[in-house]
Amino acid sequence: MREAASWLAPGRVNLIGEHTDYNDGFVLPLAIEYGCRATVSPGPDGLLRFVSAQESDPVEIRIPALQPERMTGWAAYPAGVLWALGPDLPGLTVTVDSDVPLGAGLSSSAALTCSVAGAANDLLELGLSPRELVAVARKAENGFVGAPTGGMDQLISMLGEAGSVLFCDMRSLEVRPVRFDLDADELALLVVDSRAPHQHADGEYAARRRSCERAAHVLGVRALRDVSLSGLDEALEKLARDSEGEELVKRARHIVTENARVNDVVALLESGRVREIGPLLTASHASMRDDFEITVPEVDVLVESLLSAGAYGARMTGGGFGGCVIALLDADAVPAATQAAANAAAARGFTAPRAFVTSPAAGAHALDGPDAG
Ligand code: ADP
Ligand code: MG
Repeated sequence: MREAASWLAPGRVNLIGEHTDYNDGFVLPLAIEYGCRATVSPGPDGLLRFVSAQESDPVEIRIPALQPERMTGWAAYPAGVLWALGPDLPGLTVTVDSDVPLGAGLSSSAALTCSVAGAANDLLELGLSPRELVAVARKAENGFVGAPTGGMDQLISMLGEAGSVLFCDMRSLEVRPVRFDLDADELALLVVDSRAPHQHADGEYAARRRSCERAAHVLGVRALRDVSLSGLDEALEKLARDSEGEELVKRARHIVTENARVNDVVALLESGRVREIGPLLTASHASMRDDFEITVPEVDVLVESLLSAGAYGARMTGGGFGGCVIALLDADAVPAATQAAANAAAARGFTAPRAFVTSPAAGAHALDGPDAG
């Protein structure tokens, strides 16, 4: 066995397509420049040892104790990856360091699991493909940590490409890079982290999943992906007659219109009409706020302020109940928009947001040479 293997895997923002992943629908994320670096090395015997630069204490567990949904705390993520790669693991030490803000909706968890999966695959010479590593990282979160995420995060962290957003069909898991060249148009994608506390996010996420599954069941389709925009009115009439009708109508309307918006954004990007995606981003936000009901005042205020500052479009990105907002704007409008967002948050007494400009970065990859740690 080699002495060590190191990988870097990025966080992500989702340009559009929220909560559509677990409805077998479409998403359009990009990998960002922030990522997690993981190094996996052999030993100590019979033990798995996890060290994070973001945590004060290492975590150790004996290999036979590696059981799903028993471990709590951050080390469950890398432990879940090793569990998904097992059985017959040797003793291993996993060391990670990430500059993705934790729990901000930028998918620090997928950056963590994908970087560990890649490094462990190399060290153990398992020969898994990037797609197989996506499945490993997803199994770690879903099957070991017990986080019911829909699969987008691991896909983009592993398969993202510099300069492109990744159009993902979450039923077939087919992906297609779509050029998203902001520089050529003198545009910028601004990310503003609301830093709002993520309250009730897990319970609400599970409730949204349940509503979507129920709506699909009532409509007699496999998933809400199977309801087209032209069939929406008829579907909503049917849902309205259910005992949970009012809620199901709103949830389904978000998913069906959001899938259509993702496809419209792809078509605009592919014909070079980048600015024109703005209104679709803003419509996505309205749909998340009014129909899917996953936004909070902290992010609504940021979206409004960015639009007032001249953004072509703005929306919350990520699962909701806090997290980040993205805005598409002229590159030279970034300083004023950032200030407007800060002012709007301060006027409402909200935590000061943190902003950064991003563009599509590379997906997960091995680090070698002196970087390899
Ligand atoms: P997000 O993926 O949006 O950042 P999650 O709640 O899915 O939010 O994942 C965040 C969790 O992932 C953290 O609470 C922590 O347990 C774990 N995590 C991510 N990166 C690291 C890291 N570098 N060190 C330790 N734990 C991490
Ligand atoms: Mg996550």
